[in-house]
Formats: sequence, structure tokens, C-alpha cells
Amino acid sequence: MFSPINSLLGFFSHDIGIDLGTANTLVLVKGKGVVINEPSVVAYDKKNKRVQAVGAEAKRMVGRTPASIVAVRPLRDGVISDFETTERMLAYFIAKVHEKTTFMVPKPRVVIGIPSGVTEVEKRAVHDAALNAGAREAYIIEEPMAAAIGAGQPVMEPTGSMIVDIGGGTTEVAVISLGGIVASRSIRIAGDEMDQEIIAYARQKHNLLIGERTAEQIKIQAGSAYPLEEEIEVTLKGRDVVTGLPKQIVLSSVEIREAISNSVNAIVEAVKATIEITPPELVADLMEYGIALAGGGALLRGLDQRLSHETKFRVYVAPDPLSCVVRGTGAVLDDLDRLRKVLVQLQYTKPPRFG
Ligand code: ADP
Ligand code: MG
Repeated sequence: MFSPINSLLGFFSHDIGIDLGTANTLVLVKGKGVVINEPSVVAYDKKNKRVQAVGAEAKRMVGRTPASIVAVRPLRDGVISDFETTERMLAYFIAKVHEKTTFMVPKPRVVIGIPSGVTEVEKRAVHDAALNAGAREAYIIEEPMAAAIGAGQPVMEPTGSMIVDIGGGTTEVAVISLGGIVASRSIRIAGDEMDQEIIAYARQKHNLLIGERTAEQIKIQAGSAYPLEEEIEVTLKGRDVVTGLPKQIVLSSVEIREAISNSVNAIVEAVKATIEITPPELVADLMEYGIALAGGGALLRGLDQRLSHETKFRVYVAPDPLSCVVRGTGAVLDDLDRLRKVLVQLQYTKPPRFG
């Protein structure tokens, strides 16, 4: 519905927050909430490098594409393995939001959350890509900082709070105080690695070949990090390693917990290691406020109990953990003057490119 009032509202509500995750990209428009939530996947033709699909459509093509089309996750390991593809994905999502907003919109301001493993050069590149894609101003924020803000932690206060963000490719642990990250650890072990462990377990223990998507479903259905009050069973369908024929087996949640135990242990160790390097006063604060879990991995059953058991801190899953980062970027857009300090300060040796 076009009216001068609408376009005026569009004028004030067009700023964009983006969570450029290893598994999922979320986009929020100020005043409207989350408008895009899609896998960080790009499908393109190897022959001419033309992008065929982005997001959910591209993910559906994984494993089903003709030989010349490849579907990639450019941020899979929390580092930008393929910058050109990342840039195109970002441009695609920004353009998609542009389309949806009202007429006469000025260029948006954009806050982008990215994994903290990304290098300084890559951060600058993402920043410039956002400007090339039509942003008026672009700001970069590290994912654990955005997650902590989205989880409602008091990041600007002189008190320590801890966030653990378990995504697809990376787990990021950070202690935050006075708008800065005081202690942190980032490991390339998270949800994807659990899926790989389930694939390996099925093959080694049951001679069963399964794909990544099946493994992920099993993890979501019956994965856990701590004994369940009532253990459950799931049916797993795949192909027999020896005969190549379809086969199905029944797995218990106890077995799946064993299958993913290396990944879960690595996450527990990363949290403990971060606590060890945290200044004592801030550790005392953590006693009071507890540890917040964010990202899709926070939904793994019993991970909060396991971490609480091992660290003796109160551990809780943040509300709507999958959208903490993007909601954090939204909070920064809402209050840029007060929260400017939490943004990454990019050092430029030459002026940025303007598209
Ligand atoms: P990223 O920020 O890296 O894009 P996300 O925070 O979107 O990642 O989380 C994606 C990961 O969370 C995937 O590995 C997915 O399998 C996992 N995940 C999603 N829901 C659940 C669940 N209920 N239990 C366990 N893992 C989950
Ligand atoms: Mg994330």
C-alpha cells in the first residue's frame, strides 16, 4: 500500500542488521524485525561462475545438482573460504530486503555480525562488500558480542558476563565487560562436527552410510550432552556399507550421545579454558549472572546441564538462541551512539571502495 506516510515510515525504518553465520544468515530490518532467515548457501555454475540460487533454494540443491553446479557454504569453518561468493551472498540478501521495503528508501545503515575467526582483512572486505551492495554506512560486530547483546546481557556495565555461541562451524566463548571482550576462545567445532561424528559412528558401528542432512536430523531429534530422564530411540535410514542396499537401524539417545561426545567435550573444554583466563573479579560476577548459551547448538538437549555440572556456574539457554546475534545487531542499530564501542574498529591503510 503506497502512501506518503508509508514512504516516510520506510525512511525511518530501513536500517538493517545481518547475522552472517556459518550455517544460517538472518536479516533484520529496524522497526520490522527478522525478515530473512535462510541457510548461508550459494549454488553456482562452475563453468561461468553464475549464481544459480542463494539460501534455502541453494540448500535444497546440495547433493542433487548436475555436475557443473556446486552448492557451497562460503563461511563454513568460520573463516571466509571464498570471498567472492560471500560478497555475492551478502549483496543478494541486502538486495532482497531493499525489494521488500517501501518506495523512496534512502540507502540503509547496516550492522553485520561475523564469526570472530575472520581476519582483519576479511572484516574490511565484508564491510566494503556491504557498501558496494548499497549500504550508506556499514559496521562490523563480532558474533559473540552481538549474541551477548541479543541475549540481554549487560555488556556495557562494569560486570563480567559470559556468552557461549554454538553455531554450525564455530563455537565462540566470550567474557564481556564494559563494552569489550575481556577473554575469549573460538574453536572450529560445533554443530557440523557433531553431524560428522554421527556419520562416522553409523558407518563404523553399524555399517550404515548416511548423509549430512540425515545426521543433522538425528542430532536434532535425539542428540544430547547429558543423560536424559528418559532415553529415547530413533530409526536411522541409510545404505549398507557392504551390500549397498537400503537399510535401517534403531539408535538410542545413549549411542548418539557417545557418537557426538568428542565435539561436546571440546565445547566444554573451551568454556573451562576461557574461565581460566578470566580475571578473578569477573569470575565472581559470572557466579552471580551465570553463563548464557546462544546459537543453534544451545538447543542440544542437556548441554546447559552438562556445562553447569562441569563449571559449577548457573548455565541457561538464551531466549530464541538462533536469533540472538541478529537481534543484537538490531539493538546496536537502535542505540548506535551508546553502543558504538562494541563495534569492530577497522583500520584502513587506503580509503574504502565505494560502489
Ligand atoms: P551459525 O551461527 O554458525 O550460522 P546457527 O546458530 O544458525 O549457526 O546454528 C546452526 C547449528 O545449530 C546447526 O549445526 C544445526 O544443526 C544446529 N541446531 C539447530 N537446532 C538444533 C537442535 N534443536 N539441537 C541441536 N542442534 C541444533
Ligand atoms: Mg551464529
